Amino acid sequence: MDKFNKYFRKSITRQFMALMALTMTLILCGAVFVLWSTVNIIQSYETNSGETREKQELVSDISNHANQIIMRVRGYYVYQTQFEYDQIFIERQALDTALDAIKQYPMSDSERELMERIESFFTSFFNELLPQGIAYAEAGNYEALRTYISAEGDNPVNKLLEYSRTFEHTVQKMASDENLQLVKDLTYQGGIFIGYILLVLVFSLFITRKIAKDIGYPLSQLTQQAERFAAGEMIQVDVVRRVDEIGGLSESFHAMIKQIVSKEEELVSQNEELQAQQDELQAQQEELHAALQQMEHNEHYLEKRNLLVQSLSNTLNKQELLSSIIRHIVDIVGYDKGIIVMNTPQHDYAAVGVSAKGAAQLIDSIDDGMVLRAAQTREPYCVTRACTPGEQGYHEEQLFASELIVPILDAQEEMVACMILTKLGQSIAKHEPVEVAGMARQVSLAFDKLAIYESSERQRQMTSDMLNTIQEGVQLFDLEGRTLQINKKLTEFFGFLPSNGESMQLPLHDLLDKLSGVVAEPEALKQFITERVLGCRSADASGFTYEIIEPDRKYIQMYCEPLYREGVKFGTLLVHRDITKEYEVDRMKSEFVSTVSHELRTPLASVLGFAELMLHRELKPERQRKYISTIHQEARRLTTLINDFLDLQRMESGKQTYDMKPVSLTALIHEVIELHRIGTSIHEIVWENDDKPLMLLADQDKLQQVLTNLLSNAIKYSPEGGRITITSQAESEQYVIRIRDEGLGIPDNALPKLFNKFYRVDNTDRREIGGTGLGLAIVKEIVTRHKGTIEVDTKLGEGSTFTLCFPAQHIQPAVETETEASEHMPEASVEVMLIENDYNLSIMLRDELQASGFRVYLYTQGQKALEEMDALRPDIVVIDLMLEPDTSGWQVIEQMKKTDTLQNTPIIISSAFEEKEKAAQWGIREFLVKPYLPGRLTATIQQILRKG
Ligand code: ADP
Repeated sequence: MDKFNKYFRKSITRQFMALMALTMTLILCGAVFVLWSTVNIIQSYETNSGETREKQELVSDISNHANQIIMRVRGYYVYQTQFEYDQIFIERQALDTALDAIKQYPMSDSERELMERIESFFTSFFNELLPQGIAYAEAGNYEALRTYISAEGDNPVNKLLEYSRTFEHTVQKMASDENLQLVKDLTYQGGIFIGYILLVLVFSLFITRKIAKDIGYPLSQLTQQAERFAAGEMIQVDVVRRVDEIGGLSESFHAMIKQIVSKEEELVSQNEELQAQQDELQAQQEELHAALQQMEHNEHYLEKRNLLVQSLSNTLNKQELLSSIIRHIVDIVGYDKGIIVMNTPQHDYAAVGVSAKGAAQLIDSIDDGMVLRAAQTREPYCVTRACTPGEQGYHEEQLFASELIVPILDAQEEMVACMILTKLGQSIAKHEPVEVAGMARQVSLAFDKLAIYESSERQRQMTSDMLNTIQEGVQLFDLEGRTLQINKKLTEFFGFLPSNGESMQLPLHDLLDKLSGVVAEPEALKQFITERVLGCRSADASGFTYEIIEPDRKYIQMYCEPLYREGVKFGTLLVHRDITKEYEVDRMKSEFVSTVSHELRTPLASVLGFAELMLHRELKPERQRKYISTIHQEARRLTTLINDFLDLQRMESGKQTYDMKPVSLTALIHEVIELHRIGTSIHEIVWENDDKPLMLLADQDKLQQVLTNLLSNAIKYSPEGGRITITSQAESEQYVIRIRDEGLGIPDNALPKLFNKFYRVDNTDRREIGGTGLGLAIVKEIVTRHKGTIEVDTKLGEGSTFTLCFPAQHIQPAVETETEASEHMPEASVEVMLIENDYNLSIMLRDELQASGFRVYLYTQGQKALEEMDALRPDIVVIDLMLEPDTSGWQVIEQMKKTDTLQNTPIIISSAFEEKEKAAQWGIREFLVKPYLPGRLTATIQQILRKG
């Protein structure tokens, strides 16, 4: 038993298994018992009910057989057949068998008595009654039989039948009773089984609880202890003295705690050791970190120094260099601000953190103070001073600034620049001046480099400027024919050359290829260049002339010079000179000579021809008139031509003077139109005037020339006649005059050159129309001088419109007009001294003046006129500038101005030379340029007289 106990105590699993096995076994036993008892009950029930049923069947059989015997006997008595007889005995045998069988079953006393009576009855029946009865029947003695049978006494068969019926009822009742009993038994048995099961469960619960308690308690104890241990508490572990798993667990736990405690101690000691090592490492790391920081600082410092060195070599721009130097040095030494000033006359400087005013102040006093000391001592030095309010910033306590002044010395130990570096609120460390002086030496080297660069750059720039300024294109080739350098002018000649091509490497064949596209007849040029550049032929002074066709047509003269260095040829210089102008001038000259000679000869031929005719022939007065009018017309044409020519010459030489006065444009247009209307009968000249007076500050004569040229062109180039419309109107800010004709029009290709001098449209329509190509050039010049513009809108064959625009001016119209003036004719007593060298002209002018009512004193020599002038005291002197060889008009004027009595005498200059400016210097405004119409002289005198 002990062994058994031990076996189970050793394992909780076993205990549980045993408990479970026991519980299951008990339940199984109960179940088996219930099954067995149920089977028993049912078996006994079945036995009982079977017996009763069998008994009842036997009773029923007995009563049947008994009844059958009686019935058969009676049948035999009646029929006396063998069959009936046999049947009686078959039935008797069956009755006996049934009686024997029923005796096997337990029977009540009454039953047994009944059975015995039946047995005894039939025994006596067969033994006595039947043979007798048979005998009677067989004897046919039925009477005796009847009597005999009635005397048979008490027949139990009836009782039996009754019993059999009663027994059947009894058996049924018994069966139902037994059924009830069976149910009762089974119910009872089920109740007992449930009770049994409950009992088993209570028992197993009790056992389970005990086992659980045995497991749970020590486990919770262990858990608590483990938790306390985990929480870091030192615990006393109570070992559970048990042989099962809990005991093992408790022991293991105890051992584990012990182990942990011992390990912990070990770990603590290891940890302490590690801690010590870590402290050591920490210290080493800090040391390393400090070293690293120092290294980083050094690296940073070196980087900055490097940047300084780089910046010193990177730029050759002085200002950039200075800025970069001071910026880097301030950064390297960690100062707050600094300035570097050069010791040049213009004191170039750059600063960091210094205002322009502060820098200017330093430069103003550069020869006196800190910089002076640095220049004299050539040593860096330090200064400490109180901070300025600006430097003080938001600090309330007084701050001090330390300044380090460092001279930058050149190779000759002369100061070329000075650096002043400032540190706010800190003093200067000992090593800093030395450090900055080191940098100053580097800076000095950079300055030397800069100086060399600047000098060579100046030289280069000068050479480049010289090359670019000259009007010749210059091209330098090396011995292989590569173009090394060109100047700007050459790039203007050849668009394919790069505009910044001062230094380049253009191979000869590339150059020649490109030249082919832009030069007329390139082969000769290519040959010339190749021969000269590659040295096949020595240079000759003759040069070569070629024509550029793109981008602009140009004529270039080229010559070449070989270049030698120390007697060895190293290249070739080609010089291209633009001779387009000369070429054009030459061309124009010859064109002009032919035009002018044509234009001069034609009218001259008429003048000469008609004059000859008039001289040598007797002509009718009307014919004379006609010839004279032709001569007059041709002379006018000649005058216009010469005037145009002279005007242009003056304009080109810049000698043209403009006498700007308020001029009524409207009156002028009217005058010009009227003049031209007379000359044409096939043109209708219409003036569309918006009636606003257009006043301009202009040279009246020049403006008249403009209008005349345009209107005469309109007439001239409308040979078929037509309408010529002149519109004049004042628009918002300008006066616009349009002269529209319905004539030949101008081809588009002529428009760009239309206003060029000597330009004439050349086509068959107008070959017959004379002209010099100067009119529009003069118009353009005059209009431009009046700040105006001229435009042309034309369609070939349909006509042209020339539009003049002048800026509008607000000038009041003159109160007096020419017409009004003519109303105030002077007195006939006005004396005019006319000094005119040309005899014919003097006669003509005298006649004109006399005809106008003046008294005229005519002189052809200046000297003589002067001598008599004082005595004559003329009211007005009209003088030609070109007099006899010894005295010029100017000398006469000079003398007059010097003579008190004559200096206020009004003078009118009548000359072919337009020297209005010189005249104005003598206070002379009236200047008539020859040839002029004689009437103009009269009008001018009248004007002077009017002014008084
Ligand atoms: P000119 O008339 O003496 O030839 P201009 O300078 O006055 O010289 O004119 C230059 C050219 O312009 C003329 O040759 C003429 O062909 C053209 N031209 C000028 N005005 C007109 C016009 N109104 N209609 C057609 N062509 C004109």
